[in-house]
Amino acid sequence: MKIRVGYGIDVHQLAEGETLFIGGVKFDYHLGTVGHSDADVLLHAISDAILGAAGLRDIGYHFPDTSGEYKNIDSKILLKRVISLIEENNWRVENVDATVVLEQPKVNSRIHEIKDVLSTILKVTKDAVGIKATTSEKLGYVGAEKGIQAHAVALLIKDE
Ligand SMILES: [Zn+2]
Repeated sequence: MKIRVGYGIDVHQLAEGETLFIGGVKFDYHLGTVGHSDADVLLHAISDAILGAAGLRDIGYHFPDTSGEYKNIDSKILLKRVISLIEENNWRVENVDATVVLEQPKVNSRIHEIKDVLSTILKVTKDAVGIKATTSEKLGYVGAEKGIQAHAVALLIKDE
């Protein structure tokens, strides 16, 4: 059996008039993330962690923002494609652990929904999906609500 760890980080700007998706769940808030896709910072960090563990570059490589195909695309679709890519290489997800960093809105009450979304896409049980939220204590661009960050690690397994 082979095991591999991967790490991912993602950042998006926040702006008025944009929608806010975090972990595949829509939040009702006056600010949303700016990006080519739906700009789901948590799904992008998790996607990069999974691709990184399999040595398969990153989501910008597989789904370039210069391609019209990915304009406003639901990042759940991108994550499903990431899972297909690792499965082609006989990898499966053992667990992921991720943290989203933002001041507002509060994410904790929606974490069970995010875990539902992710456990289905990643084909793991809910206890294999760690989702945490923290603030940056009003410091820096996250503190000023100019941007939002997510960090993730993923562990992959291959039987051989
Ligand atoms: Zn992103």
